[in-house]
Amino acid sequence: MSVSLLVGDQFVLLGRSESELEAFAVDLGEPAFRGRQIYDWLYNKGVKNLDAITVLPKAWRTYLKERGVIVGRLKEVKRLVSSDATTKLLLGTDDGDNVETVGIPTRHRLTVCVSSQIGCSMGCHFCATGKGGLQRSLSTNEIVDQVISVREAMDRRPSHVVFMGMGEPLLNCEAVLSSIRCLNNDLGISQRRITVSTVGVPHSFPKFAELALKRLGRAQFTLAVSLHAPNQELREKLIPIARAYPINSLLKDCRHYLAMTGRRISFEYILLGGLNDRLEHAEQLADLVGSFQSHINLIAYNPIKEEQFKRPTLNAIKAFQNALELRGVAVSFRSSRGLDQSAACGQLRRQHTDAC
Ligand code: SF4
Repeated sequence: MSVSLLVGDQFVLLGRSESELEAFAVDLGEPAFRGRQIYDWLYNKGVKNLDAITVLPKAWRTYLKERGVIVGRLKEVKRLVSSDATTKLLLGTDDGDNVETVGIPTRHRLTVCVSSQIGCSMGCHFCATGKGGLQRSLSTNEIVDQVISVREAMDRRPSHVVFMGMGEPLLNCEAVLSSIRCLNNDLGISQRRITVSTVGVPHSFPKFAELALKRLGRAQFTLAVSLHAPNQELREKLIPIARAYPINSLLKDCRHYLAMTGRRISFEYILLGGLNDRLEHAEQLADLVGSFQSHINLIAYNPIKEEQFKRPTLNAIKAFQNALELRGVAVSFRSSRGLDQSAACGQLRRQHTDAC
């Protein structure tokens, strides 16, 4: 059994593969099909506790509970639905903290933006999550639960998953990769529809690539690197880790990752009004990443009350996008969804914590 799925003295079922659950049942003296029944009820029926797996004999459910076996689901604490149907959930963990997750629907897609940690140690100045520091990393079941919870709340199967919620995924590699395995194999979400977003942790890319190839056999998910600035000086002002991890080293590691996995990297760039959204910044950005033949996602900043950064104007966004396209860079603009519902990463958890 995977030690990463053990939480304290409890034995967590959610996040385990079908063969692991079969082995679990056999280890406890039951036939392998009992493991397959648990698997079906976990991933297809979305059960929240052992009592709900009524296909299992009652005596065995009691025995499992006495042995500290749990399903490992989170509890919904709050739900906000915005006018465009974007649904933000605040989910409660067993140790009394909260995790944010967001379901972002379009006609053909349902994207779930998942958190990989509670809080974050990276302290990016424009981010609400970074304000409170890191509480802890999430376990596999707590990441997988977010996708199942959105499926239940929106009554629709998620098609895409982005690790762009609270936390830095590359500081929680094991659980992130184990949850990608589960999302892919057990919830049927193609690896190619999963994106892991990072601001860059020194020396982490080769290790992450190696671990991904070992754990998943291939790394077909997309690694999205959050640049947010086209030069070292500006990046240091926005992202504290940039001081220890200069932009040139970051891009060198991106090339290394590409060589190891064969997967192109995409870049994220949050546009902050009047700060990094000028034409000269677009030109510098094109020079910096143009040779990657990659894709840049532009995101308009969602204001948070603790900081003075501004949302860019529509004209500035269009001009920035045009300047990149003129230089042959593939670019898309992701409009903010659910702006009326505390959409910035970490805002809902902070509001809830402040109110308690
Ligand atoms: S932007 Fe991401 S990495 Fe930076 S503080 Fe926020 S959650 Fe952490």
